Amino acid sequence: MDRLPTRQVEPLQSPPTGKKSKFPIKTAGIALAIVLLIELAGPQVLLQLSKPKPAPAQGSPAGLSYFPDSYEASRQRFIQGKSTLKSYGSGIKLTSYPVGGENGLYIDAMKADATKTMQNLIILTSGMHGVEGYVGSAMIELFRNEFMPKLDPTTTGVIWVHAANPWGMKHNHRYNEDHVDLNRNFFDQPDAYGKQQNPSYQVMRSFLEKPSPVGNAVNHEVAFFGDLIGEIIRHGTGTISEALLQGQYENPQGVYYGGAKAERSTQILQHIYEEALNSGYARIVHVDLHTGYGPRDQMSIFSASKETMTEEQASQAFQYPLVLTPTSKDYYATSGDNTEYFYTLKQRLQSSADLYSTTFEFGTMGVDTWGSVRSLRNTIDENSLYANGSTSPITEQIILNRYKEMFDPSDAEWRLKAVADFRQAMSGVLKYKGMLAK
Ligand SMILES: [Zn+2]
Repeated sequence: MDRLPTRQVEPLQSPPTGKKSKFPIKTAGIALAIVLLIELAGPQVLLQLSKPKPAPAQGSPAGLSYFPDSYEASRQRFIQGKSTLKSYGSGIKLTSYPVGGENGLYIDAMKADATKTMQNLIILTSGMHGVEGYVGSAMIELFRNEFMPKLDPTTTGVIWVHAANPWGMKHNHRYNEDHVDLNRNFFDQPDAYGKQQNPSYQVMRSFLEKPSPVGNAVNHEVAFFGDLIGEIIRHGTGTISEALLQGQYENPQGVYYGGAKAERSTQILQHIYEEALNSGYARIVHVDLHTGYGPRDQMSIFSASKETMTEEQASQAFQYPLVLTPTSKDYYATSGDNTEYFYTLKQRLQSSADLYSTTFEFGTMGVDTWGSVRSLRNTIDENSLYANGSTSPITEQIILNRYKEMFDPSDAEWRLKAVADFRQAMSGVLKYKGMLAK
């Protein structure tokens, strides 16, 4: 008897083996369910998060109506705006240059010369980076409505350029129909393209250019952040910034590719700048309108490298809180920039005009680390989608939504602040240059 119980108990004590095998199966089952849930539900969550904000239903403030919904609607409004320039008599010229590799795409340039003396010329250019043209068009519309009544048509002429990159605007793409970043494409010498080098881009190339179609959104997201951490450890954040901001001229499928020759859009803009410099105006103010870079809640006036004022002096002169000049900590130079080209052209033409060519940059993602990382992700993803497509329609939509939001934010609050900043900056610059009554 003494022994029996032990014999009987032994097998009862051996559930260890049974417990051992059951526990991992259950754990694995739960883990699998969680993974499946994340893989299946995660993309839907990311898709919802990427969607644009609905427009305010009622009582929407007037400034919001400046923002167009489509390239076509924006263009139509721009062309109709001609009729409101009556104070210029019959001297208004609209030129529509077909460009962009498909029917119905144009660079539209509206020009009205001063009726008596060629004193001041104000040039606004928009949509150099396609998708940024929606905000650019809004600001030209604002200028037409709110600034034109304050200008003196006898002394002040205007040139407005709608959609320097119409293909990119229509298709919500930063680059043009040849996948060229137009604001890296302006050089005075035809052989300049081959001379540009960006070693940091070549170091980062495998991270910036992906070889295969984009798949499940969650897996893709996890892989991106994993790769990013690896790249930061290996090369540092400085190399990533250098790779991107300068532009590159060696990888036509890559991001921020500046091209191998002057694109047709570039040639048209160069022609417009040349005509402006040759038209005999004493003072020229040129504002090129962009979105993306900089703090989300404050538009930046980004000076060309010829600017001699310090940040403080320029801020004081324009009565505007955020002006970046070559002395600023965050200032960076890009190759092939159109405002830089304008100054080089002035020099070559030996024009005596007092030229001020600058960029208004409406920040959208913010300048903190999280904003920079999301901006980088959206840039790489959109380029990868363009080059290789996607195996998942949901992932594709997430990428497209994020990209559009990055350059044309749907948030009403953002739009109203952009409108307020443009009013303040434009008034400041024009008053400083003596083009608006003080
Ligand atoms: Zn831009």
